[in-house]
Amino acid sequence: MAERETLEVDVLIVGAGPGGLSAALRLAQMQQAKGGEPLSIAVIEKGREAGIHQLSGALLDPSTLHDLIPDFAARGAPLGTPVDNDNIYFLTETGKLRLPITPPPFQNHGNHIISLSSFTKWLAAQVEAEGIDLFWGFPGQHVLYEDAAAPGVERRRVIGVRTGDRGIGKDGKPKGAFEPGADIHAKVTIFADGVRGHLTKQLYSQLEIGIASEPAQFAIGIKELWDIPKDRLKPGTVIHTLGYPLREEEFGGSWLYAMADGHVSIGFVVGLDYKDPLFDPHAAFQHFKRHPFISSILADGQLVRYGAKALPEGGWASQPSLFVDGALIVGDAANFVNSMRLKGIHLAMRSGMLAGETAFDAIRAGDSSSAALKAYKTRVDASPIKTELYPVRNVHQAFGAGLMAGGAYAGIAMLTRGAGLPDLAGHFGHREMKTIADYYGLAKRDILVASNAAPIDRKLTFDKVTGAHYSGTHHDENQPVHLLVQTDVCHSVCGPEYGHPCVRFCPANVYEMVDNGAGGLRLQINASNCVHCKTCDIMDPYGVITWVAPEGGEGPSYDGM
Ligand SMILES: Cc1cc2nc3c(=O)[nH]c(=O)nc-3n(C[C@H](O)[C@H](O)[C@H](O)COP(=O)(O)OP(=O)(O)OC[C@H]3O[C@@H](n4cnc5c(N)ncnc54)[C@H](O)[C@@H]3O)c2cc1C
Repeated sequence: MAERETLEVDVLIVGAGPGGLSAALRLAQMQQAKGGEPLSIAVIEKGREAGIHQLSGALLDPSTLHDLIPDFAARGAPLGTPVDNDNIYFLTETGKLRLPITPPPFQNHGNHIISLSSFTKWLAAQVEAEGIDLFWGFPGQHVLYEDAAAPGVERRRVIGVRTGDRGIGKDGKPKGAFEPGADIHAKVTIFADGVRGHLTKQLYSQLEIGIASEPAQFAIGIKELWDIPKDRLKPGTVIHTLGYPLREEEFGGSWLYAMADGHVSIGFVVGLDYKDPLFDPHAAFQHFKRHPFISSILADGQLVRYGAKALPEGGWASQPSLFVDGALIVGDAANFVNSMRLKGIHLAMRSGMLAGETAFDAIRAGDSSSAALKAYKTRVDASPIKTELYPVRNVHQAFGAGLMAGGAYAGIAMLTRGAGLPDLAGHFGHREMKTIADYYGLAKRDILVASNAAPIDRKLTFDKVTGAHYSGTHHDENQPVHLLVQTDVCHSVCGPEYGHPCVRFCPANVYEMVDNGAGGLRLQINASNCVHCKTCDIMDPYGVITWVAPEGGEGPSYDGM
């Protein structure tokens, strides 16, 4: 049996998204500026190559990029298309009302329509050019701690990460060439594992990093890339919509960003705190595309790529403890997204930079205790992250009371920059879902049809299986299922109470109820369809689904997304 390797580095970064890569680059810059013994830095990423697991809108606010890489233009940053015009509409079932003014959060002059996947690829190249090792296809599987029982150790201290094993079959036994994951020990570990990062989630349960903050809030974003006739939309056109097909009780909206050559990014965001157990976010997206305004834009066009990903929406109030002994948390893993602006890339980059600076100072001082790493929180509090997020700290929470109440709260927050507004208590979104009996007032059982089911024509609207195909996702079937489900709960109570909502909230048909051959149903997990969106880990009403990383290098292929 192969031996497990142990590697020692100064800084380990988990996740090569904008947050993790910015941390790595800042560390290299600090090294150049301050000299001394070179730091050893490693970045591990579950995707098999740079950018392949990145999905975003994406409108880039370039403010952090200016500070991190001032000569980004000379270095060929793929900044896509500058925003030319902003439009915001309220949709009814067949009509549209253009808002006469664009509210400040929706003003995008100076921003760029980018592919986050391409941008991340470029950022990774900048990091590699600094001689930093990036390990593609290496998922972190477990957080490693110093033994709290050891003499002189009072609290559990993060000492690194164990990466996933390779070569285990679905029966849990080695298949072919078995390669155990490595233990990577680091003086400072930076968790940049994105929304609902599964290692950051371990910190929530093992170190209680969320105990002093509001519950995290999430939304699911479903995105498609389309090619449409080139003269249909002026490149740089930005359209956001509110309203149809969502109801007052659901939070969300859409985007449509026109790039050069007829490429269009179109997507729909739904808060993962909806009440209707039979609601299906993917079906809502199909209805949205069938709206006359949107279908006229997509007419004669072609779907190029599909994907989905959750995003954190709880904002400033939901940030966890950002530092613990031996570790820091950045970007989406720390819930740094401005949900009013639907923007988090520049915040992930900024928090990555600040974490990089803090880690560098801590290592030079020979102290990576939480007392030393607290400097990261001080830096965040003095940075544009707080300036941007604090005024809108409770906006998503306010929308819990409906579109009108949320809109009013958001309006006041903009006028007062958040001053004088009460802090609202957040809620765990999955607990907002009502049982079928509570929501419909009758005990319907075994209903698997979405309350908002949409017609599928495979031209404009697509089913989830086709969507998964267009995401390019791939997983070897012969490996342990990476979605850990307590199926006893699923069969005994979830079916009768909620009608198996996983079938509906998953955007890739991973969860399917099939005939069990005895007159009933059984859950079939199509793990190979998974697009790593994390929605199931977030939205299951009993919280009995845990997403863990599959074998390294597997998952979606988000080229161009
Ligand atoms: C639908 C949607 C639309 C959005 N639109 C916009 C927009 O228009 N503008 C904007 O600014 N922001 C937007 N955002 C938010 C923005 O994309 C995120 O805030 C940003 O990508 C966060 O960067 P990050 O580095 O923290 O996380 P990510 O970009 O998610 O990167 C995390 C990385 O960690 C890797 N990873 C995860 N777990 C592990 C593990 N265990 N081991 C190794 N690697 C791991 C992942 O594969 C991934 O590459 C949008 C988000 C969504 C979902």
